[in-house]
Amino acid sequence: LPSKLPQSKTSIFTVMSQMAQKHNAVNLSQGYPNFETDEHLKDLVTKAMKNGYNQYAPLAGIPELREQIVKKVETLHAHAYDMKTEVTVTNGATQALFLAITAFVHRGDEVIVLKPAYDSYEPAIELNGGKIVPVQMKGKDFQIDWKEVEEKISSRTRMIIINTPHNPSGRVFSREEMEHLEKLLKGTGIILLSDEVYEHIVFDDHKHLSASSFAGLAERAIVCASFGKTFHNTGWKMGYCVAPEILMKEIQKVQEVNVFCVNHPMQKAFAEYLQTPSHYLDLGKFYQAKRDKFLSLVKDTRFRMEPAEGTYFQLLDYSELTDEKDVDFSQRLITEFGLASIPVSVFSLPGEDHRQLRFCFAKTDETLEKAAEILMKVS
Ligand code: PMP
Ligand code: GLN
Repeated sequence: LPSKLPQSKTSIFTVMSQMAQKHNAVNLSQGYPNFETDEHLKDLVTKAMKNGYNQYAPLAGIPELREQIVKKVETLHAHAYDMKTEVTVTNGATQALFLAITAFVHRGDEVIVLKPAYDSYEPAIELNGGKIVPVQMKGKDFQIDWKEVEEKISSRTRMIIINTPHNPSGRVFSREEMEHLEKLLKGTGIILLSDEVYEHIVFDDHKHLSASSFAGLAERAIVCASFGKTFHNTGWKMGYCVAPEILMKEIQKVQEVNVFCVNHPMQKAFAEYLQTPSHYLDLGKFYQAKRDKFLSLVKDTRFRMEPAEGTYFQLLDYSELTDEKDVDFSQRLITEFGLASIPVSVFSLPGEDHRQLRFCFAKTDETLEKAAEILMKVS
């Protein structure tokens, strides 16, 4: 049969996690915490089930959860979305991204994707007959070449996708970058799809700047968020998107025929849990301690590192150790040393030569110590 996704292979996250299991390796590859979500949150889900919230929820999500989402976004990013028409609760950010792309990308439309990019964007564009227009972020510090972005905008450009804090680089987009984007998109009909799943995981003096907080971006932006990343329950697959009504109306048409609505008892639980802002506002501090622990454990190795500005990923540059390609080195790290990571090149354009591996530090201190011991040995 002719495949609609002829280029797609098993995701690198699945491949690496399976290899890690096979070789009984310490797994810092796929991005998920290896510790538990809050017992209180689990109790809230159970309570909602026991209280009978076990049938379909409203398409957009239950009102009390939408209200909490709108409140959170307004408090943090000073943009007031209408809870009635401008929020949709989704099956994780992955579904929000898919809904947004499906709702707006027509056959032949161009979508600008900054590379390295999370692996779900491009297949979604392809499935909708869109054309991917990649722009590679440059150098070890992943700088955006705005001139190239500008040159790649054409009359067919329907959408541009950004991700901040950025997976896999750990970079947080600066105010200048967001303003540059705002200027660039001014007067165009281009939709901005802003993947902000690591919004609460930022470190040091960095601040997450949401597309929602720039008037010229908010008017054209679909902002996607993930409860899985924020509340340590990636397996629950809960998230949401916010966007102006004119965009959200189209997204909800797709949602209606895609899943109609998402998990009802979990929505009840999150609606209550979000009433305590410390549940998400303390996350940066929590992960900064993990990042710092990991960095201090590996500081005497020959790996080179710039501390991640955000996300729960740390890049390590291994160019002083070996000339191997990152895919080869990451495989040898698993098979010979028992440590799984993600090679950065899989997120990039073919031919891009990254001498960096991505390590997920959303792990217990014990796991981070085991991983560091291996990295000391390798180095
Ligand atoms: N975008 C990025 C950049 C991610 O890293 C992830 C998580 N793997 C997602 C989207 C998907 O989020 P979710 O698990 O909520 O679907
Ligand atoms: N977002 C996670 C990562 O980057 C993986 C999610 C997935 O496995 N699809 O590692």
